[in-house]
Amino acid sequence: MTVPITLVLGDITAQHADAVVNAANSSLLGGGGVDGAIHRRGGPEILADCRRLRASHWGKGLPTGQAVVTTAGRLHATHVIHTVGPVWSATEDRSALLVSCHREALRVAAEVGARTVAFPAISTGVYRWPLDDAARIAVGAVREAADPALFDEVRFVLFDQAAYDAFADALAAHDG
Ligand code: ADP
Repeated sequence: MTVPITLVLGDITAQHADAVVNAANSSLLGGGGVDGAIHRRGGPEILADCRRLRASHWGKGLPTGQAVVTTAGRLHATHVIHTVGPVWSATEDRSALLVSCHREALRVAAEVGARTVAFPAISTGVYRWPLDDAARIAVGAVREAADPALFDEVRFVLFDQAAYDAFADALAAHDG
C-alpha cells in the first residue's frame, strides 16, 4: 500500500489540508512566491510563530533541507511546515537537499499528526530548479518517505500548467 499522491493546479494558500508546506527562506521572515502568499493569506500569527522559532532555535537561520512547524493562521489548514529548498546549481548536485526538504516536512507533519499534507513545487521558483528534475526528485522522495500508516494524502499544488505537467509525468514515470 502507498499513500495517495494527488496533483492540483492551483494556489497552495487555498488548500484545505492538515498541513501546508511553505517554500520558505532560511530567515523564516517571509519572502516572495509561495512564502509571501502564505503569510499574506494566513495573517500575522504565522510570522509571530516564525519569530518565536528564530528567537528560541534558529537565530542563524533554518538550514537548507530542514523543516519546522507553525500555526497556519487563517489558512484552511492546521499547520504550516516551513522548509528551505536548495538554490539550483548547474555545477553541484544538491538533490539530496531537495529530497531532505520533503522527508523532513513529512517527518514534522507526522510529529504533529497531520495526515493530509500539501506541498508546492519547492525550489522551482526563485531558486530556479528545472521543473522536470524537481518533480522527479519530489515524487521519489515522497514515495520513499510517506508511511501509509501515517498519511492519508500527499498533494502537490502546482501553480501553472507547466508545473502540473511536470509532476504528472514524474508521477506516471515513478509509478509505471
Ligand atoms: P523557491 O524559492 O523554493 O523556488 P518559490 O515560492 O519562488 O520557491 O516557487 C516555488 C514554486 O511555487 C514555483 O513553481 C512557483 O511558480 C510556485 N508558486 C508561487 N506562488 C504559489 C502559490 N500561491 N501556490 C502554489 N504555488 C505557487
